[in-house]
Amino acid sequence: IEQTAYRNDKLAMLGKISASIAHEIRNPLTAIRGFIQLLRPHLTKLGKDEYARIILTEIDRANDIIYEFLNSSKPSAPQTTVIPVSSLLKEVVLLTESEALMNGCEVVLLDESTPLHISVDVKQIKQVILNIIKNAMDAIADQGHEHTGRIEIRTRKDQKNVNICISDNGKGMDHITLSHLFDPFFTTKESGTGLGLSVSYRIIKNHRGYISVDSKVGKGTEFVISLPIVEMS
Ligand code: ADP
Repeated sequence: IEQTAYRNDKLAMLGKISASIAHEIRNPLTAIRGFIQLLRPHLTKLGKDEYARIILTEIDRANDIIYEFLNSSKPSAPQTTVIPVSSLLKEVVLLTESEALMNGCEVVLLDESTPLHISVDVKQIKQVILNIIKNAMDAIADQGHEHTGRIEIRTRKDQKNVNICISDNGKGMDHITLSHLFDPFFTTKESGTGLGLSVSYRIIKNHRGYISVDSKVGKGTEFVISLPIVEMS
């Protein structure tokens, strides 16, 4: 009971802090968005319109993250679309490419051939998977430069769910970390927020799914996101 009270306290605090963060971050983002739009014709002339498009989409995504995910005092209802798991995963992997390159690791998508559909808020689920991949990259970076990082994403179907498995060969977790993983503000990183997984947990729960984790110190970690399959007739 004490633990639950503590968690609720933290969640209330999270609500307050996020409201002020949202406000403070929104202003610079609005300025950046405006100037990129002014620059857009010049970028188009240079044949770089794609860059402008990506910047705008990513600014919008950052805005959405602030409002939808950090503002846990008012969790928004998911905007669901039915979508094949494979296309969602492909888009996410594409988004991680430049970061993977910088981190010297590879993100590999090993997909099932049977098309499986899920009914999800695409932005929210993308964010969850991006959070997990980002954590995997951090865990890989902690293994040192000589270590060849590999993140594998595969889907497995069970009776009612599709399981999206994301594994890394990063530093792994001890049992203390494992037991606090989904707590708001729990982080082992110098500049971590400890929000990624607590928010992810809530998003998946809102989708009537669940997340599980398996990890070994020095070997790596596997996250499994289970989401209900939508039968297409
Ligand atoms: P943050 O990334 O800001 O620390 P998260 O909620 O995303 O917040 O993660 C909480 C903690 O869980 C991390 O600080 C890290 O210790 C641990 N963690 C999460 N994913 C992994 C992983 N793939 N490998 C090792 N540790 C992980």
